Amino acid sequence: MKIFNKEIIGFASSACILLIFGLAHAQAAGDVSVKNGPGKRGEADTIYDAARVWPYVLPDLPYAQDAFEPVISAETVSFHYGKHHKGYLDNLNRLVDGTEFTVSTLEDIITGTAGKDDMSAIFNNASQVWNHTFFWNSLTPDGGGEPPADLKINIEKSFGTVDACKKELASAALSQFGSGWAWLVQDGEKLKVVKTGNAETPLTGGMTPLLTIDVWEHAYYLDHQNRRAEYVDAVIENFINWEFAADNLKKGRRGI
Ligand code: MN
Repeated sequence: MKIFNKEIIGFASSACILLIFGLAHAQAAGDVSVKNGPGKRGEADTIYDAARVWPYVLPDLPYAQDAFEPVISAETVSFHYGKHHKGYLDNLNRLVDGTEFTVSTLEDIITGTAGKDDMSAIFNNASQVWNHTFFWNSLTPDGGGEPPADLKINIEKSFGTVDACKKELASAALSQFGSGWAWLVQDGEKLKVVKTGNAETPLTGGMTPLLTIDVWEHAYYLDHQNRRAEYVDAVIENFINWEFAADNLKKGRRGI
């Protein structure tokens, strides 16, 4: 009888563990991993329509979620995009519903609410939606290497060499205390590296972002724990999307 009970308990425990694993997997994957599977690569709209007003939408990722393994795992991308990025978007749509901002573009909301204490929730979520879309496009599985000629000339004018630019970008990413972003921007006639905290963006300082690296812990902690430098160096060497930066510089647009 005791053996029988053990078997029952053992079976029940196994079933329970399987159920928990199944639920955890389903929750982690969500709808987005199906939507952005390899079959959809290259077909989706990955950039915001800059003229779009409320309700704002989550653009598809421009690559599969495992495109940066093992530096950035599919699990990290799944949570970062499907939970964090989508979370900011859902918050924003909820906060803007019924306000005067329903007729505003994302960029107008960001510049219109920056620095206003009573609008910090809308600013933070709008800016984080914009920053994340910009970040996903700042990476590409075929990244790193040499920047396109026009961008390279401008980098060399401002930093001396491409290596010096990369070094400054890494340094900004590492020295940003706590959560934030490292950016390559155009500021007047010069290219610069700047860093921003939390949801802050160079858009509100009149600069044109060219590319960014997310250094919030959620961007790397599952894969690298506290070793931010390991994540930053590997991203700059292998995945930085110079073509995207060159395109932003050429068009003089704010990126999205
Ligand atoms: Mn992030």
